[in-house]
Amino acid sequence: MTKLRLAIVGAGPAGIYAADILLKAEKQFDVSIDLFEQLPAPYGLVRYGVAPDHPRIKGIITALRDVLDTGNIRLFGNVYYGRDVTLDDLKQHYNAVIFSTGAIKDAPLDIPGIELPGSYGAADFVSWYDGHPDFPREWPLDASSAAVIGNGNVALDVARILSKHADDLLPTDIPSNVYEGLKQSPITDVHVFGRRGPMQVKFTPLELRELGELNDVDMVVYEEDFDYDDASLAAIESNKQIMVIDRIFRKWRDGLQSDGPQSDGPQSDDSQSGASRRLHLHFFAGPIEVLGTDRVEGFRYERTEPDGAGGVRGIGEFREVAVQAVYRAVGYFGSPLDGIPFDERRGVIPNREGQVIDDHDEPVNGVYATGWIKRGPVGLIGHTKSDAMETVRHLMNDQANWWSPVQPEEDAIVTLLEQRGVDFTNLQGWQNLDEHERALGAAQERERIKVVPRDEMIAASKG
Ligand SMILES: Cc1cc2nc3c(=O)[nH]c(=O)nc-3n(C[C@H](O)[C@H](O)[C@H](O)COP(=O)(O)OP(=O)(O)OC[C@H]3O[C@@H](n4cnc5c(N)ncnc54)[C@H](O)[C@@H]3O)c2cc1C
Repeated sequence: MTKLRLAIVGAGPAGIYAADILLKAEKQFDVSIDLFEQLPAPYGLVRYGVAPDHPRIKGIITALRDVLDTGNIRLFGNVYYGRDVTLDDLKQHYNAVIFSTGAIKDAPLDIPGIELPGSYGAADFVSWYDGHPDFPREWPLDASSAAVIGNGNVALDVARILSKHADDLLPTDIPSNVYEGLKQSPITDVHVFGRRGPMQVKFTPLELRELGELNDVDMVVYEEDFDYDDASLAAIESNKQIMVIDRIFRKWRDGLQSDGPQSDGPQSDDSQSGASRRLHLHFFAGPIEVLGTDRVEGFRYERTEPDGAGGVRGIGEFREVAVQAVYRAVGYFGSPLDGIPFDERRGVIPNREGQVIDDHDEPVNGVYATGWIKRGPVGLIGHTKSDAMETVRHLMNDQANWWSPVQPEEDAIVTLLEQRGVDFTNLQGWQNLDEHERALGAAQERERIKVVPRDEMIAASKG
């Protein structure tokens, strides 16, 4: 029987689901899978993107761990594709490769002032609070007012973490330096800005509702944003998710609300419960400029209105809010991989249903993609499963075009990494690190405390 020696690069949910689906599929060949991950820990954005106060979502890790624990997949952690292993290496040792390298960078937002000190990408902030080893350990939380630009779940995550009291995050797995940083934050007001209306948001009802449940944080919405047009009314009628979102807003509008924002700063507390922090949601607010000379001093936006074709247009009314920090949460963006075609505009590997294609739309033999690097950085963890199914189907049907490795023996890649002096970890190493983090947490009656520095992660992996 032929054997498929498969390399998967990226141990996020997409890569792990692809391995699982392939192992469980009915097939005419044996399979052996090596999973390469640049970090000493697997699970990608489930560990380093999903917010720490979302333990239910983080719980997906249990299912992913079960896949790794089946014993049919070798994990090579702390191995960076493009430096520690190359495409030529993979061709020498495997029949095919699936890239599932996700996305970790912020998409750009091209407005004046976006480069000022105090203006940040949401992805960088997320990497900080989720303890990603490749990002700065310190985060300047010195703003009393902050703007978050964007209307997706990541914008709400960032707004929630900024406005939540640090002690309310203590039961989570946040690293100690993140707790200390958030603890001394002087923030009182977080303003979230979306270009479109409240019935066109990209966030989900669960994430929105959660904002209203934060301890000592008042929700502020503005009545002027809720003069629904016909398209919004139709959306409420026809879409259950939008209907629930409308209901959540209604509750806030009936209770704590303000007629319209003042032009130069936070609202008066007249209509609020007197919490020490406020989270404002502004709609029909298109970003125009981050204001300031040496650092962020404010945010300028233009009021918009529905254009009748599903979008919005500016109405020439400009407003400013005084803030000392701006976070842009306008999407993630994938990174190119050595030797692999890349679509610079979309930040993805060009592909046809997971089969990677070149500049001339021709299939690149033996090379496949799945997850966010295949489809772009949208969608939930569950979507990476259907993604993986499609990619694996093509891989399985494509046997005639697989590579013919000259060193298919399982030991050969280990020898290569050792000869190169790559300090790689394995599944047992991850299990050691996992146990170590749990023990650190148990000492403080917390479930886990994440280890952040890469060298400490590796040391804990090696016991
Ligand atoms: C802030 C945020 C919050 C989210 N919250 C939720 C949520 O609450 N619920 C939900 O369902 N979804 C959520 N998502 C979406 C979810 O995280 C993604 O759908 C999912 O993680 C995408 O999986 P992936 O495997 O394609 O990519 P990733 O999870 O990004 O995994 C890619 C892996 O590849 C590795 N890698 C990258 N480059 C290399 C290289 N050169 N060599 C070796 N390894 C490499 C990375 O280290 C990483 O481990 C959230 C996303 C973000 C950004």
